[in-house]
Formats: sequence, C-alpha cells, structure tokens
Amino acid sequence: MADVYSLPKLRYGYAELAPYVSELQLTIHHQKHHQAYVSGANSIFERMEKARKEGADYDAKSTLKELSFNVGGHVLHSLFWDNMAPSGQGGGSPGGRLGDAIDKEFGGIERFKKEFAKAAATVEGSGWAALAVEKASGKLLIMQIEKHNTNLYPNSSILLVLDVFEHAYYIDYKNDRAKFIDAVWSIVNWDEAARRLG
Ligand code: MN
Repeated sequence: MADVYSLPKLRYGYAELAPYVSELQLTIHHQKHHQAYVSGANSIFERMEKARKEGADYDAKSTLKELSFNVGGHVLHSLFWDNMAPSGQGGGSPGGRLGDAIDKEFGGIERFKKEFAKAAATVEGSGWAALAVEKASGKLLIMQIEKHNTNLYPNSSILLVLDVFEHAYYIDYKNDRAKFIDAVWSIVNWDEAARRLG
C-alpha cells in the first residue's frame, strides 16, 4: 500500500527561524518528531487495510485512538510549519479580515495574544494552542488541544497553531515553555493565518 502521508518539506530553511527556534531544534522536531507521526499513521492504515483484506478484526478502541493521535500529530505539525515565517519576515499584527475578526472577537490583538499565550502555557502535559474558526457561526475560538487530539471543536478550521510539546522547545528553552511562547510571536506568519480564514 502506498503511504497515505509523507513528511512535508518546510517552506524555509532549518536555520531561518533562528534565533527564536534554532536550526538543531527545528531539524529534530521536523525530521524526527513529525516524521514519527507520519510513519505511525501510515503503519496503522496499512494494518487496517491488511485486516480488511484478510477479513480479520483489529482492536477498534486502541487502533482508532492511536490513529487519532498520529493523524492529529501530522496535520497539526503541517499547519504549524506553515504558520511560521523566517526571522525578520514574520510577527507584527494581522491585517485585513483576520485583523478585523480578532478585534471584533477579542477586543484587539494584544488581548488575543494574551488569551492565546495563556491557553498555550496551561496545556496540561503535551499539546497545542490554536486559533480556529467554527464554520457554522464564523466565530473565532481558541482551542487548548491536549496531545494532538483532545478538546478539538468539530467543524472548525485552524488558522494558527502553536506546538507546546516539550519536544518543540527543550533544546532552546529547556523547561521554559513561557519563554518559547513569547518568542514565537516574532515569527508568526499572519499572512498564512489570514489566507486560511479566506
Ligand atoms: Mn511537535
């Protein structure tokens, strides 16, 4: 069976997010951690296909839980890489429709950043903070995702996501998650987030 997923190429070089994310941190994060979710999901798809061909069972509860974790890991990392920009090209504030939507929902960019950073800082264990738009209402929502797959809102599109697994920052920031969160604002790619809002 052909692989369903493959590790996406980054839009920038491994050294281009420095000093906010170092070349070594980004390289390991992308090539080892993200790759593990790609491989994990592909191998579960393979196992399921094999079971179907053979008319055999698979353990639904454990398999689907593992699949959710790995698919979530792959999809979130793919979004994360693209919503960062090389040093000097990111940061600032969003304009256009996204800027207006953030002002309307949160009362301004500074208030949004404060709420988002708090969500990221307080993820229990490993996870993510995300800004999403719930499609039925068009409302912007902050998600606090545990692992890669808990506390997501259904039918919502992610505009911006921040990885706060320790593997995202341990080389550069040791255990200082707050310092990492603060640094990432300097390399946020708001144009990509705005493009996702449409
Ligand atoms: Mn990660």
